[in-house]
Amino acid sequence: MENAPKDAERALIEAAVAAMAKAYAPYSKFHVGAAVLGESGRIFAGANVENAAYPVSNCAEASAIAAMIFAGDRRIEAVAVAGGKTGDGTLCTPCGACRQRLREFGAPDLRIHICGPEGLRRTFTLQELLPHSFGPDNLEA
Ligand SMILES: [Zn+2]
Repeated sequence: MENAPKDAERALIEAAVAAMAKAYAPYSKFHVGAAVLGESGRIFAGANVENAAYPVSNCAEASAIAAMIFAGDRRIEAVAVAGGKTGDGTLCTPCGACRQRLREFGAPDLRIHICGPEGLRRTFTLQELLPHSFGPDNLEA
């Protein structure tokens, strides 16, 4: 399979699925897990963290990126996001804000694996999800 994930990316997918269980989502009940593969080869996971003041809530991708930055990595090599119910076939793709968050640390060909609890459903590139994007290179003189 041409688009099949590599070994490190399989572990990434497992980390995203496992992270769903750690979500704090008492309001939406929609649990999302995310995992990013940093340039060091380490995997950083995160889950969505809701708040009674809804707009203050944090997406799973933002949580995973924050963990990566705190650990010292600065580049995302691959991403996995897991959400939805087993077998429902929906795609829990990153929201618009998270696509931009990923753009900060990822190249246009960044692989984003969209998963359900049962595993991989579809893989996109960042370029596909955020075409004609604005990123750090736009600010270079
Ligand atoms: Zn988001």
